Amino acid sequence: MPDENYDLVVIGAGPGGEVGAIRAAQLGLKVALVEQREHLGGTCLNVGCIPTKSLLESAKNWSKFSQAKKLGFELGKLSYDWDVIMKRKESIVDSQRKGLRFLMKKNAISVYHGTASFSSANSIAVKGDNPLTLTTKSTLIATGSKVKELPFVKSNGKGILNSDSVLAIDKVPETMAIIGGGVIGIEFASLFGRFGCEVTVIEMLPQVLPFEDAECVQEAVRCLRKQNVKIETEAKLSAVEDAGGHCVVSVEGREDRKFSRVLIAIGRSPVTEALKLDAINVATDGGFIPVDSHYQTRAPGIFAVGDVINTPALAHTASAEALHAVEVIAGKSPPLIDYNSNPSAIYSYPELASIGPCESELKEKGVAYKVAKFPFAPLAKAKIEEATEGFIKILYDPKYREILGVHIVGAKATELIGEFVLGKVLETTIDEIAHSIHPHPTISETVMEAAHVAMGGAIHL
Ligand code: FAD
Repeated sequence: MPDENYDLVVIGAGPGGEVGAIRAAQLGLKVALVEQREHLGGTCLNVGCIPTKSLLESAKNWSKFSQAKKLGFELGKLSYDWDVIMKRKESIVDSQRKGLRFLMKKNAISVYHGTASFSSANSIAVKGDNPLTLTTKSTLIATGSKVKELPFVKSNGKGILNSDSVLAIDKVPETMAIIGGGVIGIEFASLFGRFGCEVTVIEMLPQVLPFEDAECVQEAVRCLRKQNVKIETEAKLSAVEDAGGHCVVSVEGREDRKFSRVLIAIGRSPVTEALKLDAINVATDGGFIPVDSHYQTRAPGIFAVGDVINTPALAHTASAEALHAVEVIAGKSPPLIDYNSNPSAIYSYPELASIGPCESELKEKGVAYKVAKFPFAPLAKAKIEEATEGFIKILYDPKYREILGVHIVGAKATELIGEFVLGKVLETTIDEIAHSIHPHPTISETVMEAAHVAMGGAIHL
């Protein structure tokens, strides 16, 4: 019988919970992790970051193979096997799940499967096949989020899909309407579009990816159009009907249209219902659990991180918050998280990545700024890699020359942004970036070249 008294109980084994549990164990705490799903890894590993990026990598390879002739290869008649692509995705997910199990064992973390709820601040009931009660000094809530459904359209796993069920789709459909042009909608558009599906993204707002820099989004949309993706903005969905074999989509002010499949991607909502937060006197705010700058809820000793709190819903954000919270629980004083250096990353083609405010936000706040911009097109490496679309845009303070925000659209944007995350944490200036030697030939030369713009001009433009 396992010991049921812990220093820390972590609820939820996504990137918030599993990272928090491991660090807490490394810091010497006795830790239990409760997860209601069969597998560890949360949304990110099971139905989020990892399966989608595996499929997007297959789409990238398919695009490359489709250009074989131009690149000097004779591959004969090209075709793909969707089953193998899906199996590859599953095997990556499975291998990561096993890796997590190993890490739990290695760090002596007790894992319980079941649904956790508070009986009191120090007592947590786990309901499932083996119900039990855990007593604990502290708790980390990392229960994440779930797919949001529209009140008038329910996904059914057949014609009408959501971001969970689409990951088990049996074939690439001929046509697909994607409702919602946020990160998830645009990633799936770029995935299915490159595999030849005629995709229509239906977005209510004037811009898809509404939180990204408008100029970067324009460039991304230009490239998406070449991938069989149509984008309709300011388009209000009024109904979707699964007619069996095809779906009928109604948008206000337009004729009804038929699509093979519909993907609803309108966002996610925090998961708190089962927790019984009343027992610890915590009330949600807009569905989220309110926390202070150390992620402590109003109940002393009970912390919450990740998608269940109102911060950017990203895996790396959940992990960073969890590290902070458990270090506080262990009596340390970690630095506060600066959300201006928390990267956003979108893995469509081209990729988009950013940190800090975009131009419109700076304008709105009346903050003085200058722009240093460099396109990928002149770079030899971009031509070698057939990835000349896009640009990098650095917004910097004209007086102190500090980086305010960075917005990248193009190949490897999600890797390049890491340079600026570090730069921002180290409070680097744009001149220091210009003086940092980047290897040649690489795509990362865009970083240095853009910084040169702020010093009198880019060299290769
Ligand atoms: P989750 O990962 O949601 O994990 C919460 C866990 O808690 C779940 O396993 C759940 O079963 C469990 N749980 C809930 N309630 C209870 C309970 N009462 N008792 C026990 N267990 C419970 N982010 C990125 O950074 N990069 C990406 O590329 C990316 N791609 C994505 C693609 C898709 C399609 C989706 C849907 C999301 C993507 N995200 C991405 C977002 C990312 O997955 C989430 O931000 C991240 O998983 C949040 O982590 P979390 O630990 O807060 O919660």
